Amino acid sequence: MANILAADIGGTTCKLGLFSDDLELLHKWEIPTETFPDGGKILEDIHEVFVKETANHGLDLTDIIGVGLGVPGPVDFKNGIINGAINLNWNGKKPISYEFEKMSGIRTIVDNDANIAALGEQYKGAGSGYDDVVMMTLGTGVGGGIVVNGLLAHGHGGAAGEIGHIHVDTKRRFQCNCGKKGCLETVASATGIVNLARHHFHNGVETRLSKTLEEGTVTSKAVVDAAKSGDALGIKVLDEVAGFIGLALSDISVLTNPNYFIIGGGVSRAGDILMDRIRKHYKRLTFPPAHENTEIVFAELGNDAGIHGAARLVKQYLT
Ligand SMILES: [Zn+2]
Repeated sequence: MANILAADIGGTTCKLGLFSDDLELLHKWEIPTETFPDGGKILEDIHEVFVKETANHGLDLTDIIGVGLGVPGPVDFKNGIINGAINLNWNGKKPISYEFEKMSGIRTIVDNDANIAALGEQYKGAGSGYDDVVMMTLGTGVGGGIVVNGLLAHGHGGAAGEIGHIHVDTKRRFQCNCGKKGCLETVASATGIVNLARHHFHNGVETRLSKTLEEGTVTSKAVVDAAKSGDALGIKVLDEVAGFIGLALSDISVLTNPNYFIIGGGVSRAGDILMDRIRKHYKRLTFPPAHENTEIVFAELGNDAGIHGAARLVKQYLT
């Protein structure tokens, strides 16, 4: 047997998967992430459930050729070290690969969660069959992953693919979590949609959302829904969001010239009202040879993208 185990560790749940040698997902399950008091039990919990679930499938850990882990934070890919993960209560550098290998006796590889999601979509999802794919995840923040020639780009310090921090808002209106202003994340995430809605509301744009905007309780979903029903402010915000995303994709297109840009995350559920606008702006801005063969599509694997990518990493680097 040469099975593979994968875990995508999130702030509230860990998604886990057991794969065959040729990367078919045999079984998937979830466990809660025990982040209190210091996230110290997370790897142990994963190990324990791996032992149990492999046994349930008539296997033991000696049948497993590798473990792939995804973590929500910056990763030194070569050395398998995560440099802090706020959502997991992990502070400072933590040698994840080493710790999990010591615990399980199985070779382990670790990468950032946005990267493994991108690799999962490239290999098994919306980019399936193509070697050059870029994924953009529009959630509370904006994450991303860049696959070139079938491999994730990591870069010198692991920051390759952090496309949420491409500078797009030259007016530098909103503060980003990274400490800078003007990042894509400040104008294209769920938070970014709310930033823009507030900004235009204060500048007098008409809207039916004035009550929640005044109270400070407006949500990105409410802004999207308002746009769908023709609200002037909602439409203005979505136009601007799509313009910034189109600009970022256009910049990326001449760096890696992907077959597919894959858009995922909660904000992508806005659907065609957002996607049509992204495609329009992308086409308007992009170097013709870089848009003629590139499609912008929605992600297909949802929450399973990460485990598929983590398993793929095992196959690429540990076998
Ligand atoms: Zn930033």
